[in-house]
Amino acid sequence: MGREKFLLSEGIDMVEKITKDNALWRAELPPERYAILRQAATEPPWSGDLLAEKREGVYSCAGCGNALFNSDTKFESGSGWPSFFDAINPDAVILHEDKSLGMVRTEVVCAACNGHLGHLFNDAVGTPTGQRYCMNSLAMEFDEGN
Ligand SMILES: [Zn+2]
Repeated sequence: MGREKFLLSEGIDMVEKITKDNALWRAELPPERYAILRQAATEPPWSGDLLAEKREGVYSCAGCGNALFNSDTKFESGSGWPSFFDAINPDAVILHEDKSLGMVRTEVVCAACNGHLGHLFNDAVGTPTGQRYCMNSLAMEFDEGN
């Protein structure tokens, strides 16, 4: 396992990059989390424990602990997956074009460990950003409080 610091923007926000062999991820993560974070699987809708989570707190990457979303950006999208209208800060996640499954979507990965989190859509009518980070519950952990 190697760690090195990357400067992602204008010298203020530092995200510690985490690189690990796939075998290590497989050993460390439960199979259902490994399938999503390292193999870009999607959990079935309405299955996630964090879907109904309404407490105040922070959602972080289940692979590495990087903080991803604050509860004050969570909203009920009706999609069956935990949905947020903004990331906790611009450097928390990285966006990639995803052309799998015959669609063009925007994949959202953890900026620290590159773990697959979900997808970003621009259909969140009525939210401050209009964006919907459609996340897998199993890709995240929730910590109550700030
Ligand atoms: Zn991560």
